[in-house]
Amino acid sequence: MSKQITVHYDNQPIYDITIEKDYSNLDTVIKKQVTAERKVCIVTDSSVAKHYLEDVTEISKDCVSKVTSFVFPAGEESKNLNVVEDLYEHLIKEKFDRKDILLALGGGVVGDLTGFAAATYLRGIKVIQLPTTLLAMVDSSVGGKTGVDFRGYKNMVGAFHQPSAVYMNLSTLNTLTDRQYYSGFGEIVKHGLIRETNYYSYIENHLDELNKRNLDILEEVVAGSCNIKRLVVENDPTEKGERALLNFGHTLGHAIEKLMDFKLLHGECVSLGMVAAGYISMKRNMISQKEYQSMIEMLKTLNLPIDISGLNIEQIIETSKSDKKMDAGKIKFILLDKPGNAVILKNVTDDEMKEALSEFVK
Ligand code: NAD
Ligand code: ZN
Repeated sequence: MSKQITVHYDNQPIYDITIEKDYSNLDTVIKKQVTAERKVCIVTDSSVAKHYLEDVTEISKDCVSKVTSFVFPAGEESKNLNVVEDLYEHLIKEKFDRKDILLALGGGVVGDLTGFAAATYLRGIKVIQLPTTLLAMVDSSVGGKTGVDFRGYKNMVGAFHQPSAVYMNLSTLNTLTDRQYYSGFGEIVKHGLIRETNYYSYIENHLDELNKRNLDILEEVVAGSCNIKRLVVENDPTEKGERALLNFGHTLGHAIEKLMDFKLLHGECVSLGMVAAGYISMKRNMISQKEYQSMIEMLKTLNLPIDISGLNIEQIIETSKSDKKMDAGKIKFILLDKPGNAVILKNVTDDEMKEALSEFVK
């Protein structure tokens, strides 16, 4: 039993997200995008390659005339233009043209970098996203945002380029480290909080199974999250308005991520950012104390951090102001109107942020 979600833009279907527990239908998905005489380049990183490159290569070989792979060292440090250039060179040498296709096999780093190369190589070729981290499954593989870091500035260069398909094999989650696995829940909890109380309750009721990486429950959760992300990006494909709701927990979360020099994982920083944004929402009487506490409990159960030491509060606030989430000098802050509904506000004050941060920055 698999799940399929179709992403639309302007009421037209653009691509399908297929959620499976193995790669048994990947051939069908590839064949839908390219004819048998075309070429496939599998782009992946050194860690993911060890686990899944062989399988995906074998399946691709049954679909097209030639399969090549481009493997780069795992880690955010690789998400830069130099690696993109190496990939362009590989594609040129292998004579890839606009009718061939890239497969992005990996986490968000592989997805962002491959998506950006696909957006720009020959002014755009197709890419199929094959996310292998929980974060990539519920977040980065959906929505068409691609990009790389530039001279230390995160995601500074990029493009919107929709994938032709997204295919997730949930069993790949079994080889993730605990930290990487739980980090994905930062975004999952966020999706529930900003959009869907039923989804949030479902997670709350299945924490045991999720801790055991039960694939049936994960299938429901990944599909639920993809659906929420789909709804938000369909309404706002190029991030002009509503899509900013996805930044719940990210205003201060990103600042913490930067100040910690990326020693904390993204989802872990989002967790801390949500604690702050949740606290401000509670102080403004937008959510109750009980609702705030239940969010904290859920984050704790999912092994996500709810406090941090060694950071300076003033510095976190300053850093959040140098982020991209500014609009005409005002910081855009996402708060919870109630659980299941988020709002974009520009009137959150430094004092409110200070008070929220002093609750958990030790
Ligand atoms: P990642 O891609 O670096 O993967 C984390 C680590 O896990 C890597 O070492 C990787 O090799 C390894 N790995 C991946 N899949 C594995 C598996 N199945 N088994 C074992 N190891 C595996 O990190 P990530 O957390 O997936 O993604 C983070 C990136 O995503 C950041 O660069 C961030 O900017 C980007 N991102 C993009 C969007 C978007 O909308 N485009 C959204 C959120 C995050
Ligand atoms: Zn995020």
